[in-house]
Amino acid sequence: MRETTPTTDSVDVWARAPKVLLHDHLDGGVRPATVLELADETGHDLPVSGKDRTAGGLAAWFRSAADSGSLESYLETFAHTVGVMQTEAALVRVAREATLDLARDGVVYAEIRYAPELHVAGGLELPAVVEAVNAGFREGEAQAAAEGHGIRIGALLTAMRHAAKSREIAELAVRYRDAGVVGFDIAGAEAGHPPTRHLDAFEYLRRENAHFTIHAGEAFGLPSIWEAIQWCGADRLGHGVRIVDDIRVGGPDGPTVTEDIDAALAADPADLHLGRLAAYVRDRRIPLEMCPSSNVQTGAAPSIEQHPIRVLDRLRFRITLNTDNRLMSDTSMSKEAGLLHEAAGWDLARLQWVTTNAMKSAFLPFDERLAVIEGTIKPGYAALLA
Ligand SMILES: [Zn+2]
Repeated sequence: MRETTPTTDSVDVWARAPKVLLHDHLDGGVRPATVLELADETGHDLPVSGKDRTAGGLAAWFRSAADSGSLESYLETFAHTVGVMQTEAALVRVAREATLDLARDGVVYAEIRYAPELHVAGGLELPAVVEAVNAGFREGEAQAAAEGHGIRIGALLTAMRHAAKSREIAELAVRYRDAGVVGFDIAGAEAGHPPTRHLDAFEYLRRENAHFTIHAGEAFGLPSIWEAIQWCGADRLGHGVRIVDDIRVGGPDGPTVTEDIDAALAADPADLHLGRLAAYVRDRRIPLEMCPSSNVQTGAAPSIEQHPIRVLDRLRFRITLNTDNRLMSDTSMSKEAGLLHEAAGWDLARLQWVTTNAMKSAFLPFDERLAVIEGTIKPGYAALLA
């Protein structure tokens, strides 16, 4: 029987479209039921009790605690996922389930990041953390393939901005680069913790010809982005939404896009004036790992309708669409695509464009990126658009 041709209004078309995800945190995407079960096993104290001590109650707590509008309180919710991810078995399980959840949502390639240093409270050594997560990803890939979903996961090792372990984590990323780790990242509260504190790690990675991204321009503005690119040498920017502080409406003396987003959205792209940093980011095709729902929750963007991704898209920056933390934002790649469809009229062709952008920006070898674009993304969209 011939299936009905999907339209962009049908709910599952976003799930069926091949998608690529570059910015997703392992400890931000744990299934609520898994948090509950692991907490029962380990005695970890959860913030819900009584009749709310269910997967649904916990999911609602994460969502509302993360909805506070500040990056700092958003980051506090992670104590309850990281808290139950302190054994090899727990790490394997969470990594396997994350892979399966993404695959069932139509993600064909994802880079999932986590901070090994946050998973040693139960006595694990750093290499054991990496090996457990890798094992979970491989199990998840095999299980997804058996279900008919092809997916590949690359791990990014994150170092925390406020800690002093970045060089050690960078060395770990290089040590495991031929065993499932594709890059490195710095995350955590931006305030008071500039990426230049970790220059030693970035210089080491560059000497090793290794790839890295940096969380920058989420809570903090242009100096953070400038340091990440020009001092640290980041290949990609985690979020980078605040680059629009360097784009003005109507001319070099007009309001910034942040100051008047509605005017920016209404303006002809030719009337948007790029400052030197914004121009550099666009000229060099530096990928921006944008996470619309997460940015609205932390206050980095006022709403999906007024998210800078829309302006950057029209100006043809290399934008990519991401989930950041699926649990805290109660989201998925197909949900994010659906939100952009509702708020900005994105259709399948637009999703294919950002998906291809993401694949071009992946930390995989060039020939492997091309193989995913030619072998999976193009035929996948061609079938949906036929
Ligand atoms: Zn992030």
